[in-house]
Amino acid sequence: MFNQSRLNLARWFTLSMGGILILFASILYGREARDRLHLFDQALYSTGEVVASGAEEIIYGNLQRIDLESAPLLGSDSLHLNTHILYARWYTPERQILQFTGNIPANTLDPNFGIQTLPSSEASTGLVRQLTLPVYRQGRLLGYLQIAASLDSVEYPLRQLRLFLALGVPTTLLIIAGTGWILGGIAMQPIQDAYQRLQQFTADASHELRTPLSAIVSNAQVALMEPVSLDEQTACLQTIADAGETMGTLVERLLFLARYQGGLPTQGLQTINLNDLLKPLANQYAAEARDRAQEFTATFFPTPSYVYAEPNLIRQALINLLDNALRYTPPGQSIGIYCESQGAKALIHIKDTGIGIAEDELPHIFERFYRVNKVRSRQAGGYGLGLAIVQQIMTLHDGQITVTSQLHIGSQFTLRLPMVKPQRS
Ligand code: ADP
Repeated sequence: MFNQSRLNLARWFTLSMGGILILFASILYGREARDRLHLFDQALYSTGEVVASGAEEIIYGNLQRIDLESAPLLGSDSLHLNTHILYARWYTPERQILQFTGNIPANTLDPNFGIQTLPSSEASTGLVRQLTLPVYRQGRLLGYLQIAASLDSVEYPLRQLRLFLALGVPTTLLIIAGTGWILGGIAMQPIQDAYQRLQQFTADASHELRTPLSAIVSNAQVALMEPVSLDEQTACLQTIADAGETMGTLVERLLFLARYQGGLPTQGLQTINLNDLLKPLANQYAAEARDRAQEFTATFFPTPSYVYAEPNLIRQALINLLDNALRYTPPGQSIGIYCESQGAKALIHIKDTGIGIAEDELPHIFERFYRVNKVRSRQAGGYGLGLAIVQQIMTLHDGQITVTSQLHIGSQFTLRLPMVKPQRS
């Protein structure tokens, strides 16, 4: 699927870039050909004018004669022009040939005036550009001048350009295709990673749901078997109820992670004093710790510290961390909340002297479904989602969660939230 998408991206990239390249090359070639031909024609016109200016009209009585002796190219007295002219011809006003250089022309002038491109002739292997002009002097027609030059000087550089483009364009297209393939790969990588994470998440969630689900099915089958005592039936129903509760908690956590994927609903946000949130929680967990024979201490912010947040989510994050602290701390050990402000940040540390986390496990504990000791964590009622949820809550509030921990010594989780000024009511 990803390779197909990558191929499609590369294909469309090559097609669009290739299309632009071919268009650009065609425009470049067209302009170059037009400009070179224009310059060539201008030079041909100039030569024609120089040749025509050498023609002289001699009148004897009523007789008019044209003297071409001093006309360049045509006359023998003339200086030779340094040009690529293949032939020059002079026709009388009656369009009969009078004088010429180069190959032998037809006796009568073809009535096509101006510039023409002719196929190769015996005088030239390439195309020939021919100019035919009527020549006037003081309003009187002296005759017609026809000159022609080989287009080789235009054709040769254009041939070179065509060769360059014919080799360059496909080579560039190949490079574009390769670049498209590489860029497609880079573009697809985050999508592929996200897809793999989603697949992993779905597989993990299904795996987690399978255990309580099979407990429900097997206990229901046992309870339905005849004969079954009332006690056995009660035990089965209790297991079913527990499994249902487990599934409920898991589904609730999964829904939580899915619900807040995009961002926070703005209507739930408010300015809250963190001490107001922490104090009831500290009371609740102090009582729980007492029941578990653990020591519990709490140091709140010395002055009211405000954050702009969704209070239920911040409370949920604190509950997850305090639950873990109690769960992974043996009796006789201590748990503590310690709050301080650092610049514009409010810091809440949740510290315990419990079992701690090994250094190589630390980078993974915020991953979904990651548990350090699966059996132990499951027995403690954990799914490996608690810290992932805390991290998601922190990200939603532009906050941060960090951890320091040492095996058998204890852990410290720190929530860092941006503080705001209190709202005036
Ligand atoms: P769980 O619901 O399984 O506790 P969490 O995401 O909350 O999942 O925690 C992930 C893992 O991190 C747990 O399996 C546990 O091993 C470890 N962990 C979390 N908090 C603590 C703590 N305070 N002390 C020791 N280990 C902890």
